[in-house]
Amino acid sequence: MLASLKGLWVTLTNTFKKPVTAQYPKQHLPVARRYMGFPVLMWDEGVGEPYCTGCMVCIRNCPTLCMSAQMMDNPLFKEGKSKRRKIVESFEINFGRCILCNICVEVCNFDAIEMSHQHELSVVVRNGNRATLPRLLEMGKEFQKEVGWKPKGAEEGAKEEATP
Ligand code: SF4
Ligand code: SF4
Repeated sequence: MLASLKGLWVTLTNTFKKPVTAQYPKQHLPVARRYMGFPVLMWDEGVGEPYCTGCMVCIRNCPTLCMSAQMMDNPLFKEGKSKRRKIVESFEINFGRCILCNICVEVCNFDAIEMSHQHELSVVVRNGNRATLPRLLEMGKEFQKEVGWKPKGAEEGAKEEATP
């Protein structure tokens, strides 16, 4: 009897609590700032070009070989508008094979790639999740805006400036 009353009490108290579940896909729970979704490419607002130089370091280190890129001479360097001699010409990530390991971000020397908050990219077509340069940059711009992203190099530079 006592056990039944206890059970009823638990039911009653929980009936009036705010629901903690979300009705996906209509509702989405917010992700933590440190959440690591699919990698995206960053956009240098100051110059108006990607940070990526197409150097291939991330591609050589990717354990699932799901990335490819090509570099080219940077036309903005020739015009004196950019410090980057080389720039990315094409870039592709097959998100269907990416294991979200963060290695590409760790090895990039140019702050050009970041793990975004993007995680809802399921498709029904084989290889339907191959993202090319325009899409990766678009996703990168959204992520930059969402978190107020700044390149790590800029933070280190600011620290150095602050050090007497
Ligand atoms: S994302 Fe970084 S490591 Fe990868 S190709 Fe671009 S500059 Fe090189
Ligand atoms: S997160 Fe890992 S698997 Fe995905 S593209 Fe980067 S290195 Fe490759």
